[in-house]
Amino acid sequence: MTTILSTQNIVDNKLEKLAKRVQKLKERTIRPKMKVVLVGENSASLVYVGIKEKTCKKLQCDFELLRLPHDVTRKEFLNEVDSMNNDPSIHGCFVQLPVPEHLQDIDVTSLINPEKDVDGFGGATIVDIYKGKTPFFLPCTPMGVLELLNHNQIEALGKRVVIIGKSLIVGRPLSLLLQNMGATVTVCHSKTQNLESHTLQADIIISAVGSPKFLTKDYFNKDLNQVVIDVGINRDHNGKLCGDVDFENVKNIVSAITPVPGGVGPLTVISLMENLVKSAERATKG
Ligand code: NAP
Repeated sequence: MTTILSTQNIVDNKLEKLAKRVQKLKERTIRPKMKVVLVGENSASLVYVGIKEKTCKKLQCDFELLRLPHDVTRKEFLNEVDSMNNDPSIHGCFVQLPVPEHLQDIDVTSLINPEKDVDGFGGATIVDIYKGKTPFFLPCTPMGVLELLNHNQIEALGKRVVIIGKSLIVGRPLSLLLQNMGATVTVCHSKTQNLESHTLQADIIISAVGSPKFLTKDYFNKDLNQVVIDVGINRDHNGKLCGDVDFENVKNIVSAITPVPGGVGPLTVISLMENLVKSAERATKG
């Protein structure tokens, strides 16, 4: 029988533990604070920022959103990031991506102070992962996926893992982290030929493509032994949230599968909060 890898329990459990850590910080008069810079009116970004704000509030952490106009000058944008980086009251900060076209040649993630890089997208984190070390802040979505595997006792060591998607925020860091854990990882992308020849051989398939119900049942071997982690968050033709995997038609032919919504997404947000609290705790140690 297929296991549906819902994450509500993990999230509730983590929220409870984080609330205790925040309370301890408050006893030392420290309130974790996150600041986000959002440029323009991207509707998906507004939703993501809203979820982060709500979770911060739930944990009684401070949250500040700085909204800059779509046509903000480079100078003003860079000044704002600089002042956020240097504000000692802020423990975690980032620029919500994507930024408008005129700022896209800036390596935005590298601008963030590594001490506050709770998204885990910066160079210091990537270099650590590349070298096989554990960085102080793990990138949030890969961290969520690893937590999901760990919680469900799904071993990566020695497994054949196929990741579809090689973005800097999901596929690439996740591929290195899983290699570091002893998995044999194949990374597929838009130029991969005969994608199903890879997925059919895999023990674990992780999809981060961004295409609704793209992975149909033909991509799975029907031996009821594959684990499917769906990172994609998309809307189907009715405007309903869905993943990259055709969940309804795949769920009965694999051993375990994440739902969308209710799978990797909430773990990404909770990983961000874990990084924020960790950063605030480090700040108490000077
Ligand atoms: P992205 O930067 O657009 O990357 C998409 C990747 O998919 C690229 O590597 C692309 O290949 C590959 N791809 C596109 N079409 C393909 C095809 N037909 N066959 C195989 N590979 C294909 O996307 P992203 O930022 O990583 O996000 C991916 C999805 O995950 C989105 O739905 C996003 O909303 C979701 N997401 C969810 C979370 C979460 O918390 N659950 C977090 C982040 C992102 P090329 O590199 O060759 O172009």
